[in-house]
Amino acid sequence: MEIIRADKMGFCFGVKEAVELAHELARDNSGKRIYMLGMLVHNEQVIEVLKKLKIKIITEKEVLETDGETLKKNDIVVIRAHGTTKQLYDILEKKEVTIYDAACIFVKKARKLLVEKQREGKDIIFIGDKDHPEVKGIISFGKDVQVFLNFDELKKANIDSSKRYFLLAQTTLNKNIFEDIEKYVSLNYPNIEIGNTICGATYERQKAVEKLALEVDVVLVVGGKNSSNTKKLFNIAREINPRSYLIQTKNEIELSWLKGIKKVGITAGASTPEESIIEIENSIREEVL
Ligand code: SF4
Repeated sequence: MEIIRADKMGFCFGVKEAVELAHELARDNSGKRIYMLGMLVHNEQVIEVLKKLKIKIITEKEVLETDGETLKKNDIVVIRAHGTTKQLYDILEKKEVTIYDAACIFVKKARKLLVEKQREGKDIIFIGDKDHPEVKGIISFGKDVQVFLNFDELKKANIDSSKRYFLLAQTTLNKNIFEDIEKYVSLNYPNIEIGNTICGATYERQKAVEKLALEVDVVLVVGGKNSSNTKKLFNIAREINPRSYLIQTKNEIELSWLKGIKKVGITAGASTPEESIIEIENSIREEVL
């Protein structure tokens, strides 16, 4: 049996930078306490390694509910690749901790655009999951942002033709869907300006899994079950190839999936470390090949 990797998979540059920054801080530790705000990236294995390096997790909920009581002046707080809310940044500043903002450039760009366009007097429309930390973070920098989960929801929106709007989307939105939204909006609503904040890394991984899913008998998508971009890769793979499975570790592989097949394809979410992928490949080799 052949194991085929997607052309693009695994750590994106945003996640890579955030993880490298945390490792660097742990190495240089000058006795200061280091915290990551929530899960630095959506992958449990990565988080476990960071915890072993004595980087503690402090949740956003805890900081909000206690007004950052645990944190002391000069503690180090690393903000994850998908950013956080304005309220949280404000509390951290008030506590005089040292902030290392590992929010990825795409998230920062979305945040900046939202603030600029609102300042120009436009109402903000956001397409994405309002419960996802990235979305919560970005929209917290605006006022009365209207959030729609998907294209269908957007179609039901009440758009006032006398107002000017600015539309932007979660960085991990499927690029094909975003293009459909762009066409729909430009045909129907000349008063909506569109900002593209879809991340290139997500798009490349989505395109690569589309190709892979056609070439192989079974697709294994490796990544955290709460990782938005991993779930999207899985949905794309499953639509093309129903024999697609989302797994986090080698222990979740069922040998029956691989029985009698010629090609297994592997892809991985943007927060999945290379070690997890290698572990899964080795396990397939040991068990099946
Ligand atoms: S998936 Fe894209 S937006 Fe998210 S951290 Fe990676 S590069 Fe940035």
